[in-house]
Amino acid sequence: MYAGSDVLRDISKAVENSILPSSSRSEIDKILKNKTLKWDDKIDGVPKLSLGWVTNYLTGEPASKMSTHDQQPDWSDMHRRVLDRADGLFNAGKVTRVLCSNSEADDIVNVKCTCGASMKQQTYTVMLQFLNKRTPVVESAHCTCLAGLSQKCGHVGALLLALLECQKKGYSSMSCTSRDPSWPAPASKKTESCQVSDLVIEKKSVSKTPRTKEFGREHEGDAADALMQHVYEEYGDRNIVLYHSGLVINPLMPFLAASPDRILYIEGEGYFVVELKSSLKSENLKQCPTELADASNYYLTVDEEDTVILDREHNYYFQVLGQMAVCNLKKAFFGVWSSYGCHIEQIEFDQVVWDECYEKLQSFYTKHYMKFVNSQ
Ligand SMILES: [Zn+2]
Repeated sequence: MYAGSDVLRDISKAVENSILPSSSRSEIDKILKNKTLKWDDKIDGVPKLSLGWVTNYLTGEPASKMSTHDQQPDWSDMHRRVLDRADGLFNAGKVTRVLCSNSEADDIVNVKCTCGASMKQQTYTVMLQFLNKRTPVVESAHCTCLAGLSQKCGHVGALLLALLECQKKGYSSMSCTSRDPSWPAPASKKTESCQVSDLVIEKKSVSKTPRTKEFGREHEGDAADALMQHVYEEYGDRNIVLYHSGLVINPLMPFLAASPDRILYIEGEGYFVVELKSSLKSENLKQCPTELADASNYYLTVDEEDTVILDREHNYYFQVLGQMAVCNLKKAFFGVWSSYGCHIEQIEFDQVVWDECYEKLQSFYTKHYMKFVNSQ
């Protein structure tokens, strides 16, 4: 899901800054230097975990090797705090860049991730080694935080909870998009979903005209047709599938959800998030969306090369970016339909811009939303 090199760079940086406790540092160094390890986001090799086991592991005596049944939970305050912290970190979406490596030589399953600190900007590198893929026995656990020496800090716990959640949901990888064999089939129960941009948070007395939304719903099929026409022109010789998506929750950022209009699969290109708009404005003005790109307050604009693009400052851009992040996809199609013409554009995921957004969303969630919910 993320390039392994990013994680390696983070670890190298941490090593340079000497923030690692010495034994964690040497252990992580050892794993890093093992060039035979191939990392990817598939978690099939991780032994089957249970909440009881994770609780046992985090609350039991510090030990490098533990099996499921040989330890009684120790509910001392300190251990309970580790569990609470792990739960908080996981729920706040602090676990990212989870990669696994199954060493064929010695059966060991390595898992590593980046885990954000609960209050600071700091991130830590967490490494876990399971003895084998059959039974959940931790060979060793390391974290670059100071408590990481105990092998049972909140960050290690947060990674275990993230793995557990993915296993519970039946994901074969930490990205919900890698489920075999394809994008999930439409839910059998019809549920009403809407775009984040369509959420109206306002006082009851203020009414908002539903005309735009209505028009959008009416013409979503037209917009999808226009997109498919465009895609077939470009990739006509490939296998192409357009899926309805429904609500997507990424287990690594459980406080965020997205409901893309469609998910598109193009053989050789992979999966794309699809966001479709119907341009009411162009209906009124009897103009093609691309002709409106120069108009102020319109979400299409022209770049330096005079190409019509979605305005990178507009909410719709951040909507598409968020959908890609939640769905863990790197590419999107943004389509605008009107009866006078269409605009179809491919958008690449921008990690830097997303990191910035994610930080704000996370801070809103923890500092304001949770506070609000707790006060109710
Ligand atoms: Zn830690």
